[in-house]
Amino acid sequence: MFRNLFLLIAIGLIIWIIQGFIRRSKLSPPRTQARSKDMVQCEQCKSYLPKDDAVSMNGQHFCNPQHLQDWNNKH
Ligand SMILES: [Zn+2]
Repeated sequence: MFRNLFLLIAIGLIIWIIQGFIRRSKLSPPRTQARSKDMVQCEQCKSYLPKDDAVSMNGQHFCNPQHLQDWNNKH
């Protein structure tokens, strides 16, 4: 009797863990797909980064505000 109860709890726990994995794997892909895949080049250091992460000004893109400032000082 006690052994059956332990088995039931163990099976329940396994199902709960598997369901958690399925839920997590179903949730994560749309979040990455929702982001724009456009890549832009930083005018200052010439490195590529996602457009969403770039600092943009007058059609030019920078990887961070510091590089925007550096580039403005140079030009
Ligand atoms: Zn940069």
